Amino acid sequence: MTSIVAYRCQGCGHTSTIKRLRCSKCRGRDFAEVKLEKGVLITYTVMNVVRPGYAKPLTIGLADFGEGVKALAQLAINNPRVGMKVKPAQAVLRKIENRALLGTIFEEA
Ligand SMILES: [Zn+2]
Repeated sequence: MTSIVAYRCQGCGHTSTIKRLRCSKCRGRDFAEVKLEKGVLITYTVMNVVRPGYAKPLTIGLADFGEGVKALAQLAINNPRVGMKVKPAQAVLRKIENRALLGTIFEEA
């Protein structure tokens, strides 16, 4: 199962998907990796004007994975609904000439 990796400060519990040398809240240096596997779709937008190589229309969603972590990704969901459960997956984000850029998308959980 694909997951989003986050880093939880062992001093204060602040969790972020950005790996830092020091906690932005308490300046602690000790982190534990947390795997986030399911989130709730908070909002999304559909874009009809996109850069070359992206699917059109392109749907981008913001999901809350708990732990205070929100993440943004392309949605591979035909009829997204705010409040639905989503999970991260690996997929092609963009095709440039004959190269495919892989990354994390959200699909229905
Ligand atoms: Zn901290």
